[in-house]
Amino acid sequence: LEDEYFNLKDNLSYLKNYFKTETIKGLGISDESYFINAIASLLKYAEDTQKKTLNHITKIEKKNFSDYMQLDESTIANLELLYPIQTSGDLKATVFAVINKTLTAMGQRMLRYWLVNPLINAERLQARLDSVEYFHNNPIITDDTAEFLNKIYDFERLSGKIGLESANPKDIVLLKESLITSLELFKSLSSENLPERLKFLTHIENKDKIDDFIAIVENTLKEDPPAETANGGYVKDGFNSEVDDLRNTKFNSTKILKEIQKRESSATGITSLKIGFNKVFGYYIEITRTNADKVPDSYIRKQTLANAERYITQELKELEDKILSADDKLIALENQIYLKLISELKQYIPFIQQIAQNIAEIDCFASFAQTARLQRFIKPEITRDNILEIKDGRHIVVEQLQDNFITNNASFNTKNGIFHILTGPNMSGKSTYIRQVALITLLAQIGSFVPALKMKFSLVDRIFTRVGASDNLAKGESTFMLEMIETSNIINNATNRSLIILDEVGRGTSTYDGVAIAWAIIEYIIDNIGAKTLFATHYHELIELDKRYKSIKNYHVSVAEANGEVIFQYKIESGGTDRSYGVHVAKIAGVPEEIVKRANEILGNFENSDKVNTKKEKKLKKIQPKKIHPEQIGLL
Ligand code: ATP
Repeated sequence: LEDEYFNLKDNLSYLKNYFKTETIKGLGISDESYFINAIASLLKYAEDTQKKTLNHITKIEKKNFSDYMQLDESTIANLELLYPIQTSGDLKATVFAVINKTLTAMGQRMLRYWLVNPLINAERLQARLDSVEYFHNNPIITDDTAEFLNKIYDFERLSGKIGLESANPKDIVLLKESLITSLELFKSLSSENLPERLKFLTHIENKDKIDDFIAIVENTLKEDPPAETANGGYVKDGFNSEVDDLRNTKFNSTKILKEIQKRESSATGITSLKIGFNKVFGYYIEITRTNADKVPDSYIRKQTLANAERYITQELKELEDKILSADDKLIALENQIYLKLISELKQYIPFIQQIAQNIAEIDCFASFAQTARLQRFIKPEITRDNILEIKDGRHIVVEQLQDNFITNNASFNTKNGIFHILTGPNMSGKSTYIRQVALITLLAQIGSFVPALKMKFSLVDRIFTRVGASDNLAKGESTFMLEMIETSNIINNATNRSLIILDEVGRGTSTYDGVAIAWAIIEYIIDNIGAKTLFATHYHELIELDKRYKSIKNYHVSVAEANGEVIFQYKIESGGTDRSYGVHVAKIAGVPEEIVKRANEILGNFENSDKVNTKKEKKLKKIQPKKIHPEQIGLL
């Protein structure tokens, strides 16, 4: 944007003027220049592009970062929260798609927001979980709520249209109806044992404002108005006498003319008196020549025919003007009334937006409850002792695509270690498992129930994931470079309250370098961070580490072998494994038999001579681990 957008002095007075306040502090925002400039330039930009004053942006709220978890871009992508990792992937195979059972557009927007902004405030989280539980325990109430929600339009957007003066009469009536339904929903939810948060959401502080809005719309507009304003026909009968009059004229002109004809005929005693119309004289009264002597003085003669005379009267002339211009006048008058209505309604936007937010939140709770019921989710239990326990957890997206999904536990505590090294064959389910743990934790922290049989956890401050190899060649970063950039971001930002998911870190480079880096990273996390970590790897050398650190525990994914075939069991068990079954995976992937056979031969040679392993082992033994501080372990 041009420099003019960022002049602090101008921006200050712009904001004061926009929000009609004396001081910027009155808005509850700080007076740092970047803050002022950011808000003002955004508003100015929106105004410039909309060519309108933005009445619907009514307040500035500073997002409190101490309440929300910061999720980095790669974690949002890796966990496939909103989009599949592969751009061509199925949009239905995302976490959002699987859990979203919201029924309003506002609820859907809020759920998207929640999903990428998990809470780190235990009290707020508990309030959400209790609200979900209320719906979960009361299926009939949830169904009734769904019925109300289904009738509610996106009135948050409709109120925005009022602000931008682009709402049509139908929009306004739909908004009004949605508000009525919202109030009905709030009322239906008002029971004694409602959890605090739901009580708060259903108790509307400014209900009189909403009632006023509803009354104004109901008084002014017809019940089922057209979406267009171009042809009029939306102002309610009885609202404005001039409109009624014009409508009367427009629709009843024949009747009125007949009435005049009848009245004039009996007043003059001329039974053959007729009212007609032609383009030259407009409406006229035609009287046969034989009755000419009975014509009143007020008649003005306009045309003489062979055996009749044609007259006009003041009344007929006025009526004619009225009839002919009624339509135009009607459209203009209705439009005038409409513009006045819109400007009157603008003052209600903040109150409407508040109701929209409350409806969105209720929709999210009901949606969580519905998902929990359909997919057997349970309420997680929050504790304060920095642990994470999941019993029979599931990966909700993989589970959708996979018959017989095998559930798995996770346990991060002093006894079972807080750093888990996970080894196991290719294709055995390591990535699925470590993502699943991250996902269940994330779901719990947005207030959702979770896909498990039991969960007990303390809130994590951040969830970091370093999974898969996603090249970013366009940015000039190689696979390994990207891997290291992501890892260093994690190392620099994680705390002992974080959850870190690392998938095959180090694999982008040579084995020795890879093992060395992975080893050093693990030591660093243990010694300096103390975060709960899941580290999946094919470097079997790393399983040695559990002998050196109390907080490290080895786990592996079990497989069974029968008749030379490998059967994946997808079950996470204690202890490490030193077999990868990579050649087996190559075989089932269709690599030619010849190559598979030769690979098995080479593998056999390696294993027999044990050359590779012992050499690596020796190398690794030379690396001395750092001393662990006992208090650090205590902390964990
Ligand atoms: P690699 O080491 O080759 O990257 P991996 O061990 O990370 O493999 P995943 O990608 O997690 O393996 O899983 C491979 C496939 O196994 C999944 O696509 C899924 O179809 C299936 N799978 C994973 N976990 C389970 C499970 N718990 N129950 C049933 N099937 C599973």
